[in-house]
Amino acid sequence: AKEHIIKLEDYFWEIPKSFRADMLVPAQILAFEELLDDIIEDRSLNQLVNVATLPGIKKAALVMPDVHEGYGFPIGGVAATSHPDGVISPGGIGYDINCGVRLLRSELQLEDIREQLGPLSKELYEQIPSGMGQGGNIRLSLEELDQVLSQGAAWAIENNYGIEEDLKFTENKGKMEFSDEQFVSVMAKNRGSDQLGTIGSGNHFVEVDYVSEIYDQEVARAFGLEKGQIVVLIHTGSRGLGHQVATDYIRKMMSAMADYDIKLRDRELACVPFNSEEGQEYFKAMCAAANYAWCNRQIITWEVRKAWENVFGKKGGFLKVLYDVAHNIAKIEEHTIAGKEQKVIVHRKGATRAFGPGSRELPEAYRDFGQPVIIPGSMGTCSYVLAGSHRSKEITFGSCCHGAGRRLSRREAKRQVNAPNLKEELQERGIHIKAGSFRGIAEEAPVAYKDVNMVVETVHTSGVAKKVAKLNPVAVIKG
Ligand code: 5GP
Ligand code: MN
Ligand code: MN
Repeated sequence: AKEHIIKLEDYFWEIPKSFRADMLVPAQILAFEELLDDIIEDRSLNQLVNVATLPGIKKAALVMPDVHEGYGFPIGGVAATSHPDGVISPGGIGYDINCGVRLLRSELQLEDIREQLGPLSKELYEQIPSGMGQGGNIRLSLEELDQVLSQGAAWAIENNYGIEEDLKFTENKGKMEFSDEQFVSVMAKNRGSDQLGTIGSGNHFVEVDYVSEIYDQEVARAFGLEKGQIVVLIHTGSRGLGHQVATDYIRKMMSAMADYDIKLRDRELACVPFNSEEGQEYFKAMCAAANYAWCNRQIITWEVRKAWENVFGKKGGFLKVLYDVAHNIAKIEEHTIAGKEQKVIVHRKGATRAFGPGSRELPEAYRDFGQPVIIPGSMGTCSYVLAGSHRSKEITFGSCCHGAGRRLSRREAKRQVNAPNLKEELQERGIHIKAGSFRGIAEEAPVAYKDVNMVVETVHTSGVAKKVAKLNPVAVIKG
């Protein structure tokens, strides 16, 4: 309840360690008070307090303003554990390993394409397979799949699904180095063998947007953005393969935990020491699944480019990758804790990395400006591009929110929303929707999400990431 929450800043709150005897660190919440009232409604802060008990956790368990409850950990959560002796927890990464967002920038303006939005949505819907469990047009042999798992997005470039430059503008260049495909089960590989180039269901999408507002001219120029410009957002992850990796290792860890004397209030937080055998195996399998996801977003990029050319021909120009960020992943990074540089395992679940200017991890073209942070809102509202800023290293382990965040459960959204009406209403506002089912539209309705403006205002005011541009949708392909 709210009386246990201490205000640190207008946008930053803390549940102190004294709140519960088993907390090892405080729990901290990045959110304006208006959002906090909503946040205390579900189980997410309870879950956050549980996260604060994980062996080896450093400094604070954190949630971003888009937080809502998830499996074990809240979605919108960030937890850094000591490397290599702290724990790694699959629940702190999520079932959709390396779910993330890629932003493409076009050479066209809204007025160039307004008349062709119908054919464009149709063509995108045809080129990009979507839907739950849906396979795609690429069928990989086991050998090829292993190459994808070890090479990530580079596999797609080598096989002509993109250009070398695409990798430069992908977080980690589209590859986690510690991946080892031998720790990915046969079942996971089977599930992934025909799903490259597919977006999956529900929350995943490909969306055409125009830049409706620029907040920072200099950074926008560096990112290649200007007012009126058409861009494309791609949101998906590692599909059935990543889901199976998570399932396999959560099961394994639930039984292995006792061997390491780990006792938790919530079994969903299943974890083992990072440097244990099970911990290492999971981490290597997670890296492999992350590579699959980057390869997937790369191949979808290729499909989007194909659709683009089919509709606009040469006049359509080329779609460049602006950036690609992971928002469900764990990474080994160095952070300053109590004045000392330390290696930690940063779990980001529904949280985006947001490194500030100067970070060597950034492509040269962006290095003076901070990492692009891509924040989708919903199919009926706006989305944002921000730039990571220095404050993120001080308070959030270099992280930021990943979206608006769910406000209503899927079931509640279905109860409240009339999907055919919503589709028509969006169409009237100039937003073309193509979706596999009306159910999907209802579950993903704008009312199902929090106010993205308020969420973004929070991170902007905190200095974790700064607003660069606002995007508004004109065509949405939903899984
Ligand atoms: P998640 O990764 O948690 O499933 O979703 C990330 C965020 O994407 C959500 O919090 C929501 O704000 C946003 N989102 C969901 N559907 C759409 C959509 O169709 N278009 C846009 N622009 N954002 C969406
Ligand atoms: Mn996902
Ligand atoms: Mn996602």
